[in-house]
Amino acid sequence: MNEKRSHAIFERAKRVIPGGVNSPVRACRSVGCDPVFIAQGDGATITDVDGNRYIDLIGSWGPLILGHAHHEILDAIAEAMSQGTTFGAPTEVEVRFAETIREIFPSMEMVRAVSSGTEATMSALRLARGFTGRNKIVKMDGGYHGHADFLLVAAGSGAATLGIPGSAGVPEGAARDTIVVPFNDLATVEQALAGDDVAAVIVEPVPGNMGLVEPAPGYLEGLRALTQKHGTVLIFDEVMCGMRVAYGGAQQRYGVQADLTTLGKIVGGGLPAAAFGGRADIMQKLAPLGPVYQAGTLSGNPVAMAAGLKAIEILGRPGTYERLEHLGKRLADGLAAAAEAAGVPHVVNRVGSMFTLFFTAGPVTDYATAKAADTARFGAFFRRMREKGVFLPPSQFEAAFVSLAHTDEDIDQILAAAKSALVD
Ligand SMILES: *Cc1c(COP(=O)(O)O)cnc(C)c1O
Repeated sequence: MNEKRSHAIFERAKRVIPGGVNSPVRACRSVGCDPVFIAQGDGATITDVDGNRYIDLIGSWGPLILGHAHHEILDAIAEAMSQGTTFGAPTEVEVRFAETIREIFPSMEMVRAVSSGTEATMSALRLARGFTGRNKIVKMDGGYHGHADFLLVAAGSGAATLGIPGSAGVPEGAARDTIVVPFNDLATVEQALAGDDVAAVIVEPVPGNMGLVEPAPGYLEGLRALTQKHGTVLIFDEVMCGMRVAYGGAQQRYGVQADLTTLGKIVGGGLPAAAFGGRADIMQKLAPLGPVYQAGTLSGNPVAMAAGLKAIEILGRPGTYERLEHLGKRLADGLAAAAEAAGVPHVVNRVGSMFTLFFTAGPVTDYATAKAADTARFGAFFRRMREKGVFLPPSQFEAAFVSLAHTDEDIDQILAAAKSALVD
């Protein structure tokens, strides 16, 4: 595989960008590679600057559920852009965005748009604290909610990949009020809430940032009941799983409603947009109505709103989630069969079109069991798959994504690559 140009750009990048990348997992360190610089995306494929073409299973880490360079999204962006790109004054498209989100996520009675998932979760937690007058929050071990100080405690995603327990630069005070409990374990949540002094429980209802883990039957219902009992705000961080595991996210798939919900990734249609919303009585505590301050120069950016709305509209067409389920199931079942045939210890966790192949005998139900996976074996698997033209997320602790642009032939090709990559 030719990597000449990618290497040359990486050398330049390292001189001006820390680690050569603008987000750590892109560096591919945990799988023993240099970053690959991408020139272009088209449907289910990406092409790097050396002309190597790959079937993409990253999908920009979730947003690209329609695939790369979808023509309807590009048209929506061009049309919005032609009217100007930002005003710092409200536009109607922001209202349509909020109305649309509320229709799809009935628990989100009021919505505010922001520019990233990090902003959404950070704002939702400030709001929960302002609403309850309490400071403590509960998060799950290995749960990732962006890089706000008080959330970078036992966080997954890049922090998990790099083995950084929290992060340098996070003051003790910021982390002190964060209580960390294992995912899928209600007893520890019950203990944490017992003092009636916890503002919020924040959870990825379908965690994707420790690799994909499915909520055990009754777990989300249990969180709902416990938070209700103790006057604690339940926040579903659906930045990754919202509009991914079902149109109405995990809340629709599992039939459990949150008090506040954060969305990102898919709702921006590939542009930087995210949102948080929920119960009107809580949301009305936000400035300018209430005392909780939150703002953003580019919040509700009309170009990003137009891209997001178009993506949401396309996802609402008949058959989309059935197709995602079909493709995801074929791929996950095929990978499990290939690993079985190769005699490799494995667990494939999948919900809809998100999945992770863990190299462990399993089961994987939380961060501790995810960490039992053989990351060296994953690194080797990643590198072989890349050589065979398949781009997986470069970490054992990330979810892979199938998009509507993938075809059954793409799945066949990925499975053929995996069969040989697992026995090489
Ligand atoms: C990606 C992600 C975030 C952070 O979103 P950014 O847009 O990267 O800031 C927060 N929560 C979850 C569950 C995520 O997957």
